[in-house]
Amino acid sequence: MLDRIVEKNELVELIDELSRERTIIGPVPREDRYFYEEVRSVRELDLDFDYCVYGPRAFLFPPTETLFQFQTQPGAFKTSAVLEDRPQAFIGVHPCDLNAIRLLDRVFSRDHRDEHYLTRRAATMIVGIDCPSECTEGVFCTDMKSNSAEEGFDVMCYPMSGDGNGQVTYGVMFGTKAGREWLLYNQVGRAPTVEDERAFKQYQQKKAAAFSPKIPYDVETLPELLDRSYDSLLWEATARRCYSCGSCNLSCPTCYCFNVFDELDLTLAAGERKREWDGCQLSTFALVAGEHNFRSKPASRLRHRIYRKGKWVREREGISGCVGCARCDRACTAKINSVEIYNQLAEEA
Ligand code: SF4
Ligand code: SF4
Repeated sequence: MLDRIVEKNELVELIDELSRERTIIGPVPREDRYFYEEVRSVRELDLDFDYCVYGPRAFLFPPTETLFQFQTQPGAFKTSAVLEDRPQAFIGVHPCDLNAIRLLDRVFSRDHRDEHYLTRRAATMIVGIDCPSECTEGVFCTDMKSNSAEEGFDVMCYPMSGDGNGQVTYGVMFGTKAGREWLLYNQVGRAPTVEDERAFKQYQQKKAAAFSPKIPYDVETLPELLDRSYDSLLWEATARRCYSCGSCNLSCPTCYCFNVFDELDLTLAAGERKREWDGCQLSTFALVAGEHNFRSKPASRLRHRIYRKGKWVREREGISGCVGCARCDRACTAKINSVEIYNQLAEEA
């Protein structure tokens, strides 16, 4: 059920208003591609974008960040936490990235609450924009059940119709009280009619027909398939092409591994504890003291990544570790392709 009907120019105006209170992050065209970037004016955004090269993960979990500062004095050790709570709004987040954020929310709040992630997340408002068709070739979001999102947004906009000149009518759903208030308080849009509900049903039917599965089995069975494929020769055969560059990790909206290290100032008495993204495809990812490397071979690292996305995260968090955005596949100069791996493993089995 829709909550509101909003025209694109109304939405843009509202975002413009919002930029007075929050940092706006959204899709910005750069040559022939789009990137989620912080913008100074809403006019820099293009809400009709196909996909962004990276998801908005870096604005919740930055590639490098300071966790706390410390100072040592004779007989004392002082620390002060560094937490970032700048109000921000993600505009135009597609369903795959909403599902990726949902996973990060779970990961960073279970067992040990990650205050750095959660503080930023609490300060973030999310305006989603649905995809009426596949944003680009090679995506397998429909297989991963990530081509739509039921939660993880404050407001979700469904581009139900357009006039071909950039004007779009959005069917809007509220995901949170804050999202509801944002639109209603500002008296934006109108209440949906029976006609609008009918048009929304048609939109959803058209959308369902526009997404095609790439994996010929239910991905719920992927953990079992991977269980049987641990010793497959495919890992070695595929990883022969792998450069261990980590581009697949870097571009993935669901990767959340990091390294922690200290940076000291010249006095050696004060410094910062920091963290930075790590990547399981990098040769040093599983290197431990004594120079022992648990996964010294590219094949064992590739298998680890695919197991993590297709099995371990799903078993642990109850949702897929992969949202099928195919960013890893596009980023890979060796043309290593996750769908090909999943399908070849199924053929072998
Ligand atoms: S593993 Fe690849 S397809 Fe899956 S979420 Fe990460 S980048 Fe997207
Ligand atoms: S992007 Fe491709 S080549 Fe680079 S580490 Fe990942 S799988 Fe290997």
